[in-house]
Parts: sequence; structure tokens; C-alpha cells
Amino acid sequence: MSQQGYVATPPYSQSQPGIDSPPHYGHYGDPSHATSPPGVMKPVGGLGAAAPGVMASPGPPPPGLQHLGQNGAHASGHSPQRFPGPPPVNSTAPSYAQHQPCTQSSYPSPVSTSSVAHLGSQLSQLQINNYGSGVPPPSQGPPGPPPAASFQAPPRPLQTSILQPGSQVLPPPPTTLNGPGASSLSPPGPRQDGLPGPPPLGAQYQPPPPPGPALGVGYPPPPHQAAHYGPQMAGTQLSYSGGFAGGAAQMAGPPPPPKKLDPDSIPSPIQVIESDRATRGGQVYATNTRGQVPPLVTTDCVIQDQGNASPRYIRCTTYCFPCTSDMAKQAQIPLAAVIKPFATIPSNETPLYLVNHGENGPVRCNRCKAYMCPFMQFIEGGRRYQCGFCSCVNDVPPFYFQHLDHIGRRLDHYEKPELSLGSYEFVATLDYCRKNKPPSPPAFIFMIDVSYSNIKNGLVKLICEELKTVLEKLPKEEQEETSAIRVGFITYNKVLHFFNVKSNLAQPQMLVVTDVGEVFVPLLDGFLVNYQESQSVIHNLLDQIPELFADSNENETVFVPVIQAGMEALKEAECPGKLYIFHSSLPTAEAPGKLKNRDDKKLVNTDKEKILFQPQTSVYDSLAKDCVTHGCSVTIFLFPSQYVDVASLGLVPQLTGGTLYKYNNFQMHLDSQQFLNDLRHDIEKKIGFDAIMRVRTSTGFRATDFFGGIFMNNTTDVEMAAIDCDKAVTVEFKHDDKLSEDSGALLQCAVLYTTIGGQRRLRIHNLGLSCSSQLADLYKSCETDALINFFAKSAFKAVLHQPLKVIREILVNQTAHMLACYRKNCASPSAASQLILPDSMKILPVYMNCLLKNCVLLSRPEISTDERAYQRQLVMTMSVADSQLFFYPQLLPIHTLDVKSTTLPAAVRCSESRLSEEGVFLLANGLNMFLWLGVSSPPELIQGIFNVPSFAHINTDMTLLPEVGSPHSHQLRMIMSMIQRKRPYSMKEKSNKQWKSFSEP
Ligand SMILES: [Zn+2]
Repeated sequence: MSQQGYVATPPYSQSQPGIDSPPHYGHYGDPSHATSPPGVMKPVGGLGAAAPGVMASPGPPPPGLQHLGQNGAHASGHSPQRFPGPPPVNSTAPSYAQHQPCTQSSYPSPVSTSSVAHLGSQLSQLQINNYGSGVPPPSQGPPGPPPAASFQAPPRPLQTSILQPGSQVLPPPPTTLNGPGASSLSPPGPRQDGLPGPPPLGAQYQPPPPPGPALGVGYPPPPHQAAHYGPQMAGTQLSYSGGFAGGAAQMAGPPPPPKKLDPDSIPSPIQVIESDRATRGGQVYATNTRGQVPPLVTTDCVIQDQGNASPRYIRCTTYCFPCTSDMAKQAQIPLAAVIKPFATIPSNETPLYLVNHGENGPVRCNRCKAYMCPFMQFIEGGRRYQCGFCSCVNDVPPFYFQHLDHIGRRLDHYEKPELSLGSYEFVATLDYCRKNKPPSPPAFIFMIDVSYSNIKNGLVKLICEELKTVLEKLPKEEQEETSAIRVGFITYNKVLHFFNVKSNLAQPQMLVVTDVGEVFVPLLDGFLVNYQESQSVIHNLLDQIPELFADSNENETVFVPVIQAGMEALKEAECPGKLYIFHSSLPTAEAPGKLKNRDDKKLVNTDKEKILFQPQTSVYDSLAKDCVTHGCSVTIFLFPSQYVDVASLGLVPQLTGGTLYKYNNFQMHLDSQQFLNDLRHDIEKKIGFDAIMRVRTSTGFRATDFFGGIFMNNTTDVEMAAIDCDKAVTVEFKHDDKLSEDSGALLQCAVLYTTIGGQRRLRIHNLGLSCSSQLADLYKSCETDALINFFAKSAFKAVLHQPLKVIREILVNQTAHMLACYRKNCASPSAASQLILPDSMKILPVYMNCLLKNCVLLSRPEISTDERAYQRQLVMTMSVADSQLFFYPQLLPIHTLDVKSTTLPAAVRCSESRLSEEGVFLLANGLNMFLWLGVSSPPELIQGIFNVPSFAHINTDMTLLPEVGSPHSHQLRMIMSMIQRKRPYSMKEKSNKQWKSFSEP
């Protein structure tokens, strides 16, 4: 893509920030948004994958230990509900709230432009710590309940946190302590649905505290007090010294010296996480309420599908959409869903039901093609139904007819998953298959780089040995005895070697293809085989490969021809599949996709920095496209010892739904375990092949942009060569008309795919969201973790086209804008020096700061270009849970471990300032786990964990904790495995000693 089109101006430029400006938020200038219909997707670079910063981004530090709530424990006694489960109490099907039609109320006037601009610049300057004075006190009080609200249930207080910016590092502005802030109370927020939904995140239904000085006004609350964030704090305000007392913007002259802001006064993610765990952890969360905000992604609970998809499958940035696009523009809160269609479901929850309508296939709306779901309304005695998405009235096919009961519900409502559940699968008919033929089961092709260094360091031998084990664990359909997956083997350096491993051969045969310019597959019969049948030939081959190339001096490798060969083999076998490529070097041999070393640190911090994230040639992009067309997913295990151009090599796995695993400077004795864990996990994981996803919406809005391991040939069909249980696609929505509070905003995500056993299926996820004409409702229903997932993906996608500085500005400005709009329209008047945060976004500034610190957006000399490109690609497919941990790593004080307890120690805020020299801390972000040892850590703890007498004896090269047999060792290892569980990547374990004592003179 050329640069034209990148809107260099932030969505709302500082000169004319207007809340009225077009809603470009999220789109860092993709030109298509300006001129073409939303949703026009430029597959080309857009789909980035990105990866998060290695431990890079601890957020601002705050304090706050908390008692971990009883997390974890699943509610016992709630056995998963068996399908036709008892109708939930008060749930007449997916509960549509009984809204009354809402007349559009007029929205409060937008925040003044100057205030937003000022706020933006303040946040930017202060890294989100300071809230400026620029925001004039709202000219009008909190918006009263809108006209439409009169029928509502009793108003509930909105939750608001008021925070005075502070800064950890950056200069905070001048001055005066703030006086007792005005009341932090938010205006009563009308509830538009009258449903007893769960409280908004972390919010408790507490009457607002009386106005007047609230907790902590004028000084940071004592830590212990801050720790009890829960209910008591709801609706109160925190304000701290050091904030602006009004008018910094207007002040002439140099600002006074900065005051240090107390980090403890910033809302703590730990408290938010713990508070949600305490209130919602271990409970059953039923999805029967439209627009209900689910528990946080960090809270363990049991999800019961009662008509809406589980939050394990879909999470949204907000569960209440604004009724109009004007309102959406005013708030600038992204409207997006993070969809993980193949999410792993814990064993105590019900797996998806499979619906088989035989030759009839699934029942679908004639007009919009939406699949039968709980949003379809049966009428005329059951002979017809009205589509919830497009309102079209359809005839019920004769085979599907059923009478209605007295409330108009089909008698078989609870017997048909598609009528009563949020998620289920359909057996697809031949109409849904390529060439109207049933698909073949997928194949896995293993492709090993046998160039000199890989042979020399033992990597080839390690891989071959391990393959013998993992091939025994090829995934299979649940009811099948053996796996239907066929396997094939190729080795390569600058030429390709195919192997015939047909079961009747005594010895494997090798066929060499030297024409890498035009790769062809030299054999069909005997290349892709059933593992069980050919086991002895395959083992024979795997034993021989390391020997076969033992004397090779070949250093050069090809790369693109390797993928082409695998794809051609799948194509000729007419099956989808996955390539596992084990590769180490920059492919410099003469062949398509040949790369040169173009790593250029001089580009960093220039407008050309984006080049470092783009593939070197267009070959990779078109190869990825071909792979998707043929259902060929590519996963790469990369073992680089120097620059290998991840931006180019990683593009194919990213766009084909594969995964890139990277092991820098791989050392056999240190890194094998991590690699082997990744390989085992990857081969065994749940996956669908040759997939097309379509997201349908009810009238009034639609999906306009997609982020993930996907490819798009048009604006609506998301194509994926494969999608596994760890991959998520983030979808952004825009209005194209008004939404009504009455009918809400409905989504249906349908994924057509081929199972591991070769069955064609449709997986359907439905979700109903609320709509409101009240900004307060919108803010109340936001989910910060999903917002950060969206912001990260949209920003990392933009990295390919825009200067990083511009992207960072957009992020800061949009954050400021969202918060300013809340302050202006939803909060009570308060001192200008106070930062007022909606409860659901209390920690958005902290998390945004973490995102801004990520090495993709902010280069640091010690981070390589490849690492940045890797993290960029990685993040693009992350789920909400993974991005949450990645951007806000978990920091656990191991020295506080109670060896008699089985619970995790309470996490502390993720900041270097929380480390103490007497302590031992475990830090995990999903990619790495660090054990950090203070110089004065207790010797008994050192002994217990490492079995050495003192700090000085610890070998910091180790990448696996020894099994010592002591209680400390046992428990630490258990904690580490708990953290590792559910994470897509095996985390590398490292220990870091604190080399300098804090108290050193
Ligand atoms: Zn329809």
C-alpha cells in the first residue's frame, strides 16, 4: 500500500478536535474509510500480527496488594447444564428486555474542542497521568434522565472514579492541591432495560456517597485504604495533590517544576481484577440477558449458555451500543467484538451441540442468509418467522414446522439448540463444500531446514526425535479411534527433498527437486500417508535424516519454494492442511522470495520506520493469498541467531491462521523444552481448516473492519486457511442507521470450516447487545480489556502505514477524548484538576500507557527489529485474555508464598518500583516468565527453590527451575504451571538476579 491514504491527522486533530469530527477512531488513516464504504479491506499489509513487547511494558506502578479473592474455584454444585436445560427462571428465551420505544433524546453538547485538545496534549505529555485544566466545568449538570428514561427502572448510580493525574516520571504540572473536589457522583444513570443484569464491571449498586469531600481528597489515600477498592469506593473520587488546579493551559510562562505524583493514587488494575474476582468469581454466569457485561477475563467462573454466546467466544468493547452514529462520534468509544470462535471450553461447561438437518441443511433467512437462532421470532402459529437481523418474514420449511405455545414460543424451543442457545454447530451439506464434494481430512506436512548450522547444533536430530512422539498424538475426532490426518515430510536447504514413506516400502525414498524457481511435487502416491500405516517407514526416515545431511556444508536456504511445495502437495491431494516449517536463517539462496539483510536502525524514529514492519517483497503477500485459497495454513518454528526478517517470513503464518514461534539464539540445553512444549501443544490443539467467517448484524450497523490471522477478498467474507483455539479476530462496527433500544444490536458470527476428521460444519455464535440513547449507558457497559485488544490491533495494523508518532498521538487523543466526553456528559461537575474516570474505564489510562510503551510503538535500542515485527504479528491474533496478560504482565511476590495454601499469592502492580531487594518475584506476560531475585532474598527461600546456599550460587542461565523437593519448590512450580496453562505459547523461564542492591551506595 502506498502512503496515500494514510490519514496523517488524528481522528480529531488537535487544532479542531471535535467530537464532531468523523469517527475515524481506530482507523489510523486507512484511506478506504474516507472514500470507500467501510469494510473495504486491504488485505495487504493490513493484517498484521504483532506481538507484544517482551516484558516491556509494565504499567505505571501502583501498589496495592490485595487479597486474592477466591478466584479459581469453580462453583461446585453447578454441573453443566445439559441441553435441553431447564428454562432459566425468568428467561423467556434470550431475554430481550422489554424496552419501550425510545424517542431520541438530544445529546448533551459535545465537549468543547479546546478542552479535548488540551486534555489530549496533557495526556500525551504526561503519559496519561495528568488531566488538565482545559476542561471547563460542564456547563450543564449531569444530563438528567432523558425523556425516554421515564419508564425505567430505578436509576442506578454510575460509577465514577476521579483521579488526579499524576505522573510517575513525567512532569506533572503545577500546583495547588485540589480542594475538595466536587462530588464525584455521577448522575443517576437510567437503566434502559430494567433487567437485573449484573452490575457493570466492578460496580456495586451502592447509593452514591453524599457529595462533598470524598475519600482521599487532596491526598493520596493510604495504601491499605486504596486496596479496598471495592464497593466502598464506588462512586467516590480520588484526587491527589500535584494535579492542575485549573488553567495550566492558560498559564503563560514556563510551568513550575513538576511534582511527583504518588503512583498509589492511580487506580490499580490489581484492585479492579481482584474486586471482580471477589464479586463474580466461582459463580455461574448465565448468558440470558442482552447487553449484560460479563465478568472480567481474569475472573474464573462457569459460563452457562442461555441464548447468547459465552464471553469465551465473544467479548465486546461495550455491551451497549449508542443508538446513533452522532452519539458514537461524540464518545469515540470503539464499537468492536473480539471473536474467538474455537475457544477452549473448560470441562465443566457444555460443549457445543451439533445440529443435523440432513439434506435440508440449516434453516436460513431468505434475505440476509442469517442462520436460525434465538433472534428469530416465530409468528402465524409457527408457519413463518421474522428474521431478527433484517426483519424479513420467512416461511418455515415444512420439515421444520412446530406449533407455538401460549407465549408464542415453539414447543420444541428447549429441544433445539439453535432456538435457545447462543452457540452451536450445524452439519453442512454439500452446498457448503468446495466443488460440492465432501472434503478430505486435512494433512500435516513437516518441513525441516537441514542447512549446516541446524545439523551442527543438533536441532535436526531433536526435531526428528520429537516427531516420533508427537505423531502419536495427532488430533482426531472425539469418537474416532485414530487420527484421519495424513502426514508428509520434506527437508530442504537450497534445494528440496521429498520423501516417499509409503507403508509397503522397506526404506523411505528421497526425491530431490532442484528447480526452486518453479517448484513441483515429484510424487503423489506415498508422500501423504496415514501415520499408523507407515509408522515404521516414517521412523526409519526420521532416524536417517540427521545422518543423511551430516556432511552437508550447505549454508544457504530457500523459503518461499518450501511453502509453495507444501501448498502444491495439499492442492494435488485436494485436502486442506498445515505446514510445520522448522527454519533458522535469512533465505538468501537464489529463489523466489529471496531476502537480503535490510535491518536498518537508522530508520527508527523516522517516518520510514514503518518499512521495517513491511515485507521486503510482495511475493510473501501473494503466497499467503494462494495458501488461503487452497486451505493451506503455515506454522513456523524459527530459530534465528541473527536478523532473519520476521516482517517478511512471519507474514505467511500470520495471514494463513498459523503461528510463528521464535527462539532467539536457540541453545539445545537451555531452550529445547520450550520448543518441544510449543510443538506438542500446537499439534494437539483444536483447529478448523479451510474456514470462512461471516459476521452478520441487525439493521442499523455493520462490521466494517477486521483484524486477525485472516485474509479478505471482499468486504464481508473473512477467509482463514485455518483457525485454532487460540486465535481471535477483532471486528469493528459502524452505524449505518439508527439503532433502537427496543430491538438492540444483534450479532451472528458464522464460521464454515472443515474439522480435523474431514467433516464440513458451520459454527454459529450469536450475541445480543443493548442500545441506548444515553451516553452514560454506553460508558457503563464498556470492557477495558476488550478496548485495549482493539486499540492494540488497530494501532499495530496502522504501524505498516503510518509514522509511530502519529499512531501514539491518536491513541492518546482518543483516550483523552473518551474520558473527556464522559466527564462532560455523564459526571457531576468537579474541579478541573481532577481526572474523572468512568468505573468501567478506571484503568484504561494505565493500560493505554502499557500499550504505548510496547516496543512496537516505542522503539528501544535493546529490542531488535525482528523482535518488534514478531510482537506486532503476534498481537494481531490475540484474544482478550492474552492481550490483557501481555500488556499488563502478572507480577507475583513469591517471598510471600504461604506454602500451606494452594492459592496464588496476591499479585502486585506491575512496576519496577514494586520490586524489593528482600523479595523474589515472578513476572509473566504469556511469552516469558521471569523469576526476579532481590539481592537480599531470604536464604531459606533460595535454598528451597534452587537448592543452593546463597544468592551468589544461583546460575542465572538456567531456563527451567530445578525440582528440589522442598515445599517452596513444589509450590512455585505449581504456580508456574497454573499460569502457563491456557496460554498459547510455552513461556520461557528465566531467572534474573538483581545485581545491584537498591541500597548500594
Ligand atoms: Zn434476515
